[in-house]
Amino acid sequence: MDGTGRMSYLDTMPRTIPVSFSRTQDVYERLRAELLNGRAEPATRLKINDLCRAHGVSLSAVREALSRLTSEGLVIAEPQRGFSVAPVSAAELTDLTQVRTQIECSCLERAIAVGDVDWEAQIVAAFHHLSRTPERDANDPQRMSDARSAAHATFHDALASGCDSPWLLRLRGALYVQSERYRRLSVSVKGIARDLNREHQDIMEATLARDAKRACRLMTKHLELTKKMLLSQAHLAVPVLAPDRRASPPARFVKGKTRTQPAPKAQASGERGGGPARSP
Ligand SMILES: [Zn+2]
Repeated sequence: MDGTGRMSYLDTMPRTIPVSFSRTQDVYERLRAELLNGRAEPATRLKINDLCRAHGVSLSAVREALSRLTSEGLVIAEPQRGFSVAPVSAAELTDLTQVRTQIECSCLERAIAVGDVDWEAQIVAAFHHLSRTPERDANDPQRMSDARSAAHATFHDALASGCDSPWLLRLRGALYVQSERYRRLSVSVKGIARDLNREHQDIMEATLARDAKRACRLMTKHLELTKKMLLSQAHLAVPVLAPDRRASPPARFVKGKTRTQPAPKAQASGERGGGPARSP
């Protein structure tokens, strides 16, 4: 009420977030995390009823969440068939990497041109955190840890954050999410040696030295090596059928379940620490 006793428009607004919105947001965030952490099998159908049971939410909450994920390119919606996890393919990864490299380098060039000392400090702090975060999940050594993935995202975000173009940053964010989906599908790869800490440190040092040419060259090499590693893996070596020609395996994308990743039979890597090479 205002001083005159009349109701203002604020009096008509809800005091709390509606339960339906909260539940939709919650299931959206949980499904999104499953899609990005590599535990959702690409191209599998997402059965709405199963998701409702698994997450204890209504049909409308799941539908709304899936619609949002569709707009992000993490889920595809097909007429008469419903929703499924977005498939992966070598062709898409190649295209994605090429475009992402261009946008990452554009952001980095702008950041190097205009970034201030606070931006530099963010990069140093993010690198320090990343370099001290274990790469592998303690419960599943074949899988990259969620903590490492978050630290890695923070480091790359920090590099780009000095960029003064909101549109470039928006495009970069969308491309990073798609790349993350591929990256988290990766398992150990034999025959490709890399030292990720060294790669990230080199990018950081070139950036702090305001050497845009070298920083972009190193960033390009960093992303290309990841693509090369991912393309060598079995699930990208075979063509992915178009949605209407795929079989329809039951979705295993339910709460608490994990899919088994194909484990390489042999490991040979020169990565520091003696482990197999990983994608950054
Ligand atoms: Zn990286």
